Amino acid sequence: MNNNQEFHTVRGYEIIGKQKQALSHSMEDYLEMIYRNCLNEGHIRINVLAESLNVQAPSATKMVQKLGKLGLLHYEKYGTVKMTPEGEKVGRYLLKRHETIENFLKIIGVEQNLLVNVELIEHSVTPGALHKIEILNQFFRTYPEILEKYEEYRISKENEDKIR
Ligand code: MN
Repeated sequence: MNNNQEFHTVRGYEIIGKQKQALSHSMEDYLEMIYRNCLNEGHIRINVLAESLNVQAPSATKMVQKLGKLGLLHYEKYGTVKMTPEGEKVGRYLLKRHETIENFLKIIGVEQNLLVNVELIEHSVTPGALHKIEILNQFFRTYPEILEKYEEYRISKENEDKIR
C-alpha cells in the first residue's frame, strides 16, 4: 500500500466517524456498490444499480436521493449517478473494509458462505478492530510460512473435531 492510499483510508475512517449516525447498513451497501462501479466507469445508472443490489428501481432512486442530500453523490439526468469527492472517500473506505474482512476470512479458512459472512461482519466492525485485522492480514502476507503452520494446525483441529 502506498502512502497516498493509506492517507485516504485514514480519511475514510474520519468521514465514516462523522456520519456514523447518518449511514444505515443499506446506505453503506449502496455506497459500496456505487463506488465499485464508478471506479471502472466513473458513474452508474440507476437501473444497473437496482439490479446489482436486487432491489426495485424506485427504491434505488429514493436511496440515491437520500445519499445525494448527504452530499455523497449527484443524481443526474437520464438516471446517471456520480459520486462527490466526499462520497468517493466514504466509498473507498467501504470497499477497503469489505476487502479486508474478505481477506481475513480467507486467511482463517472460511470458504462456505464467504460473502454472506463478509456482508454480516463489515457493517458492525469498528474502525479500530478493522485496522488490527488489516495488520493481521499483512502479517500473514509477510510470513507465509507462519500462515502455512496455521493452516496445518487448523486442518488437524478440524479433523479431530470430525472424529469426535
Ligand atoms: Mn460489502
